[in-house]
Amino acid sequence: MIKRTPIIHKDQILFSDSSFTIIAGPCAVEDEDSLRKTANFLSENGIKMLRGGVNKLRTSPYAFQGLGREAVYLLSKVAKEYNLLSVAEITSESEIDFLTEYIDILVVGTRNMFNYRLLKELGKLRKPIILKRGMSATIQEWTYAAEYILLQGNENIILCERGIRTFEDTTRYTFDLAAAVYVLQNFPYYIITDPSHGTGIRSLVLPMAEASRAVSLHGVMIEIHPNPEISKCDAEQMLNFNDFVKLLSK
Ligand code: PEP
Ligand code: MN
Repeated sequence: MIKRTPIIHKDQILFSDSSFTIIAGPCAVEDEDSLRKTANFLSENGIKMLRGGVNKLRTSPYAFQGLGREAVYLLSKVAKEYNLLSVAEITSESEIDFLTEYIDILVVGTRNMFNYRLLKELGKLRKPIILKRGMSATIQEWTYAAEYILLQGNENIILCERGIRTFEDTTRYTFDLAAAVYVLQNFPYYIITDPSHGTGIRSLVLPMAEASRAVSLHGVMIEIHPNPEISKCDAEQMLNFNDFVKLLSK
């Protein structure tokens, strides 16, 4: 069994081999009111990390692209107010200085897993980095990508299985739980899953989150929204607060 050093931030254990960490929040930061409702709900339910997209890398250039800097200010402000840690995706090296000032945990999304220059720069930081799996990356490519960060000295790495492209098109991606367990068994990184993007289907999120816990992974990242129907992105996979409470109780 691989023993991992706990990832600690301001005296708080964020990831360890004996805990299951839940990160939740909207796909994108949309407005202050809905973000505040979400933060309040999470803190009331003992969740410590608030996610929210700021510069969204959307497949369609016509889709909502995120609020950029305004989203960063909002996410940081609201997270602090509710004593939560902020989690947001970094999409380019040019955002490093700004995001590191405001955001606690940085995410490399699926589209940037192969951006080795970005990974090297993130390796020079000491902030936790969540490295999502490239949608067509092999386990070896994914773990090599993690090594780009590690070799620069940043050991605070969390890998996130978020589904891969296969011939299957009923689900949004093919959620590769076996790959996550393989990482758990063979690599020193923390490993969580994102069943929201991994399946793209709301009713599959809870069972795949439960499965992630059953196989002893280190956590999950879940998209939630006070009113999924009006969410500006990924509405079909978004849980409302009631669904999320069911997930917690499981
Ligand atoms: C996200 O988590 O907001 C996201 C866009 O995920 P991915 O990069 O895995 O598509
Ligand atoms: Mn999303």
